[in-house]
Amino acid sequence: MVPPKISQAVGQAFRLGRAVRLVWQCAPGWAVLNMVLVILQGLLPLATLYLIKRIIDAVTAVKGAGALSPGLSTVLPLVALAGGSVLLAALCRSLGEPAGQAQSTLVSDKVSDILHAQSVAVDLEYYEDTRYQDTLHRAQQEAPYRPTRISNGLLQIGQNVVSFAGVAALLFALGWQVALVLFLAAIPGALIRVVFARRLFRFEQAQAENERRAWYYHWLLTDGQHAKEVRLFNLGATLRKRFLELRASLRQGRLRISGQRAWRDFLTQALAVAALFGALAWVALQTVRGTLSLGDLVLYYSGFQLALNSLQSLLRGLAGLYEDNLFLIDFERFLSLKPRVPAPASPSPVPKTGLLVCRGLTFRYPGSERDNLKGVDFALEPGQVVALVGENGSGKTTLVKLLCRLYDPSAGSIQMNGLDLRALDPIAWRKEITVIFQDYLRYALTAWENIWLGDPEAEPDRERIAKAAELAGIDGRIGKLPQGYETMLGVRFQRGQELSWGEWQKMALARAFFRDARIVILDEPTSALDALAEAELFHHFRRLIGGRSAILISHRFATVRMADRIYVMADGGIAEEGTHGELMERNGLYARMVHAQASDMPDSS
Ligand code: ADP
Repeated sequence: MVPPKISQAVGQAFRLGRAVRLVWQCAPGWAVLNMVLVILQGLLPLATLYLIKRIIDAVTAVKGAGALSPGLSTVLPLVALAGGSVLLAALCRSLGEPAGQAQSTLVSDKVSDILHAQSVAVDLEYYEDTRYQDTLHRAQQEAPYRPTRISNGLLQIGQNVVSFAGVAALLFALGWQVALVLFLAAIPGALIRVVFARRLFRFEQAQAENERRAWYYHWLLTDGQHAKEVRLFNLGATLRKRFLELRASLRQGRLRISGQRAWRDFLTQALAVAALFGALAWVALQTVRGTLSLGDLVLYYSGFQLALNSLQSLLRGLAGLYEDNLFLIDFERFLSLKPRVPAPASPSPVPKTGLLVCRGLTFRYPGSERDNLKGVDFALEPGQVVALVGENGSGKTTLVKLLCRLYDPSAGSIQMNGLDLRALDPIAWRKEITVIFQDYLRYALTAWENIWLGDPEAEPDRERIAKAAELAGIDGRIGKLPQGYETMLGVRFQRGQELSWGEWQKMALARAFFRDARIVILDEPTSALDALAEAELFHHFRRLIGGRSAILISHRFATVRMADRIYVMADGGIAEEGTHGELMERNGLYARMVHAQASDMPDSS
């Protein structure tokens, strides 16, 4: 009986369906062409081999008969045919290269596109939950090169299967006993490869987190955004050491496995060589005795070699697919992630105006041990400016994420004009909101694109873009850039112009203003603005937002006090609420924070 470890390994190696399906779905036309080429490339060496045998037999017969010219008329067409077969094989190889490349790049690009679509479609939650990191990381990092390997691997496997099956049939037809001995001799080597491929696969699976950690150090060391801090704190040596330590342990693990495999591999090879030359001795003996022809001798010997080579290549291809299977499993797992913030089957139209209200809003991040929002009651009237204040970690950004429906609450509800957000299509709802998060993006694109991305479905109307820039107070600066609105921003690409933090923040504000949304949410909007710019912004704030509602998260009470209503958050709940005057009179948490800032003591942030 086959030991379970081996049968499992073989079972897994033959689970090709997943890879075949992927290639077929992405590039059916190229797959058909490649299949034809692969079959031809697998069969032509056999045809050549057979023709060579016929040539040798014909030459031997001619030599034996002593008559040259009738002999030549049988030999020369055979030589021409053999030449034709080799030529055709060469043509298939030449065509196979671009066809294989076309297939693999097409598969690779389509897989990347599927992955990108899903990366955007999955909930934010999956990016913020460590339990999904390995799946996300492997699926996203490996998508650019794994499909190429899978596609090429399948072609290699296909060709070897055809070669092997053909040569096996040929050898069995000529003398099945010798052929059987040879194939039996090849089996131990095959099993060793499959078993060790499985061992390596397990090792890689167990080391996925360490691999990711090493990649993280590499990223810290090489990505431009870390360059300043890495130099300032002189982190280079420490990070490099950690990277090398992790890589060394991964390397040693892999080396241990391939070392164990090497000598077993050698033993099985020795067995195959002994069988090959034993069989050759037998065939030679039969040839001397005259039972087999000289052509048979050549056919057998070359056939044995072809069979062994294609079998070994086949096994190498299967072993490679083990690893690729890991990617495919992760890829499928990633594609099967279901949105937990679903759109209802028949979403209600988003109310054009009305009261936005949270009642008893409770929420806990997946994996968190306590509620991050606890029974929050909050309201935003049309046209109202509301401020959220509170210590770091008190839940302000979390409340905003729920208002944007990036998450759904675990209890309580958010309603717009009496309609629960869960009855709306999340994408349609988000169109009504424009947000600048603290960690807003700085796109390495032109100035106008940085603003237009606030509403990419709108026409990039230059006048509207300039108007948004003017509202955010950045139009003057853009005008001074070398190519104005056409200037590439950031230092990532050629001729890019870097802006200061404050200027980037104004670009983000312009992007927010470009979006024709009803609610404006600014999470620490002015942290990088200078005092004058901030005063300017808020002096005209109500005009800037043009009658829209706004939620401001800020630690600066000069900004906060202009709000119509202020909510003070503490430990995931609303501790106090009211106008600036009411809250100062109350002399509670808010008043303490204001006094702390006013007396220039370290504030709560
Ligand atoms: P604030 O904006 O008031 O500074 P947040 O809303 O960002 O605070 O965070 C509130 C709490 O939720 C904090 O205790 C924080 O640690 C936790 N938290 C924030 N984001 C996550 C997350 N993705 N997963 C788990 N906990 C989180």
